[in-house]
Formats: sequence, C-alpha cells, structure tokens
Amino acid sequence: MSTDIEPREHTELRAAVSALGRRHGAGFDRATLWAEAGKLGYLGVNLPEEYGGGGGGMAELSIVLEEAGAAGAPLLMMVVSPAICGTVIARFGTEEQKRAWLPGLADGTRTMAFGITEPDAGSNSHRITTTATRTEEGWVLNGRKVFVSGVDIADATLVVGRTSDARTGNLKACLFIVPRDTPGFGRRHIEMELAADEKQFELTLDDVHLPADALVGDEDAGLLQLFAGLNPERIMTAAFAIGMGRYALERAVAYAKERQVWKAPIGAHQAIAHPLAQAHIELELARLMMQKAAKLYDAGDDLGAGEAANMAKYAAAEACVKAVDTSVHTLGGNGLTKEFGLARLITAARVARIAPVSREMILNYVSTHSLGLPKSY
Ligand SMILES: Cc1cc2nc3c(=O)[nH]c(=O)nc-3n(C[C@H](O)[C@H](O)[C@H](O)COP(=O)(O)OP(=O)(O)OC[C@H]3O[C@@H](n4cnc5c(N)ncnc54)[C@H](O)[C@@H]3O)c2cc1C
Repeated sequence: MSTDIEPREHTELRAAVSALGRRHGAGFDRATLWAEAGKLGYLGVNLPEEYGGGGGGMAELSIVLEEAGAAGAPLLMMVVSPAICGTVIARFGTEEQKRAWLPGLADGTRTMAFGITEPDAGSNSHRITTTATRTEEGWVLNGRKVFVSGVDIADATLVVGRTSDARTGNLKACLFIVPRDTPGFGRRHIEMELAADEKQFELTLDDVHLPADALVGDEDAGLLQLFAGLNPERIMTAAFAIGMGRYALERAVAYAKERQVWKAPIGAHQAIAHPLAQAHIELELARLMMQKAAKLYDAGDDLGAGEAANMAKYAAAEACVKAVDTSVHTLGGNGLTKEFGLARLITAARVARIAPVSREMILNYVSTHSLGLPKSY
C-alpha cells in the first residue's frame, strides 16, 4: 500500500511494526508478541509520555494494529487495553489511577479489558442495568455482561455501569476498574467459532465490593467520558479490519500470480483480478477515513471524530469482509485448507461488522445524525 500522505515518522512506525509482525507471522504466540511490542513502546504510543507512553495518539496506535494485522499477527486486546481503557484513564482518571495503570498498559505488562455489552441490552446501551450503589467504603456493583474479550488475561476489566440514583432512563454511564480476582466477579467462557487466541466471556457481578477509587472519572459526567473511549475503539476496530483485509489480499495476490491452470496465471483473468483490485481500493478508502477519524480525535474534536470513527469502522469492516471472501475464492480449494489459513478469517472478518457497534447501528447513526432523517427506533 502506498503511504505517502503520512508524515515520515508514521511511515517509519509502519515499517518497524510490520517488520516485527512479519518476524512473528501467522501462527504467532500472542503473549510473546504482546510483550515484545510493549517493550518496544508500540502498545502505548497513544499514552502520555509522563506515564510511560509515546505521547502520540490514535493516528499512531491505529498504525501499530493495522501493521501487526497485515503481517498476520493481530493483537485484539490493543482495541481495548491501550485504546479504550488507557485513553479513559489518561483523560479522566485521578493522578493515582494514572500512576497505577498507565505505565503498565503502555509497556504491556498490564492489560485491561472493557465490558459494556449486556445480554438484555445489546446494541441499546441505554438499557444496561449493571448498577453501582454507594457504600461507606466505596461501591457495590451488580449486573451481567456478555461477549467481553480477554477477561482471563486482563489484570482488570473497565466495567460500564450506572448509579442506583440513575437506574432508569437515558444512560448516565459510570466506569469502574474491577480487578480480575475481586470476589463476586465471575466469568464463563463463551465458545466462539473464531480462530483467535483472545476469548470472550459472560460476566456476573454479584455484590462486587470496590473501593471508592475504583470509579474512573465523574459519576455524573455521562456519555462524554464513555465516548472518549468508544471513538478510539471504533478507530481501532477499523485498523484491525484493514490489517486483516490486507493480510488476506496479499496472500491471494501472491497466489494469483503463481497459480496457472490455462495459458496464463489465474491473476490474468479479470474475473480474478478485478475483485482483488476492488478489495484493494476499498481497503485504501477505509484507511483514509480511519486516518481522518484519528486526526479529528487526536485534535480533540470528539464530535467530529464520532461521525468519522463510525464511518471508518463501517467502511473497514465491509472492505475486510469482502477482501477475505475474495481472497478465499481466489485460492480455489486451497482457500479452504488449513495450510493456507485463509478460511479461518471468514468468521474473524465478521467480528468487525458486528462489534463494537453493528453495521446497522452505524447506518442508523448516519441516517439520523449526518442526514437528519427521522429515527425509527
Ligand atoms: C468477538 C467479539 C468480541 C467482543 N468483545 C466485546 C468486549 O470486549 N466488550 C464488550 O462490551 N462487548 C464485546 N462484544 C460485544 C459486541 O459489542 C456486541 O455483540 C455488539 O454491540 C452487538 O450487540 P448484540 O450482539 O447484543 O446484538 P443485538 O443488539 O442483539 O443486534 C442483533 C442484530 O440486530 C441489529 N439491530 C439491533 N438494533 C437495531 C436497530 N435499531 N436497527 C437496525 N438493526 C438493529 C444489529 O445490527 C444486529 O445485526 C464482542 C462481540 C464479539 C462478537
């Protein structure tokens, strides 16, 4: 992919992460790559320098995830640990919380998961019922979450709840750091049809007692704090999808140049070449929107970044699903073999279409916010 609209430091970061990812390659060991990327400063490029980060933003962090994915070594927990949790703590945490968490999130020695989705709320986050009640020592949390990634490998989970004073109505979100082994914090592994190292969990919060300083930010700040984390999540999901799409496409193009069953390699047939070219164009376009979203977010324009991050996530997920499908088909029977490793991406690519916000919810957002059409739900 040509990258010349980027500043030189970004191109260099891309090349360095790409080299690291390719050294590990497909079939990589997640924990080893995570530790190495952390040590090299890549996991914390977006976090403030005074807490061990690189002092950059989402522009840099999205490059790291995209390039790792394009090399066949995606690090899903980057979407949550440095991007959501690191950002929320850096922007709204107390000095003690920043000192306690950011250096570890930056160098990868600590990881934080993020739990917002609930079984009875799903796409409608306003319906979440995980409730925090104030006690003399701090808080008690009760509720359930579902599909939360990486809880088993994370030191803590940033849990989105609401206070008991704001139990109903539009969500006034408040965010709590729940350490993995806190009594009452249960998890059940959900078996997914995904060939990924990171697992998903259903969580039960059953009278989980937390100290007062488990609350990150203001209990009354509402959605502002939450969106400070959710926009990075969307930008990073776009990076994840673009990386995966590029990985699949690179394999398919190489195969199409070599494989010959008539007079010329199959890549000479336009029925093979054009879908590959289309996939390439759509991934490039998605990346442009991701860069726009990252630029707006890093400039502090949360509102502008919201629209762009939604559009980038949408475009990247669609481009990824199509690139993977096209690539699998290009390899014929080999597209479905374990040896070539592309078929397993078919389900992985769909994750970006449904999470963290589904294709339809983005279309709803664009219909109502960008186009001013009436809301149907
Ligand atoms: C691999 C994976 C990892 C995940 N990791 C995390 C995580 O770490 N933390 C976390 O909190 N969550 C996580 N999630 C959850 C994810 O964010 C949710 O699955 C997603 O938000 C959709 O919610 P749902 O599954 O309840 O679908 P539902 O909300 O039940 O939606 C089902 C379908 O209905 C459509 N739909 C719903 N409402 C509307 C409407 N108004 N108009 C049109 N269509 C509509 C949706 O688009 C979707 O196609 C993960 C999910 C997956 C698959």
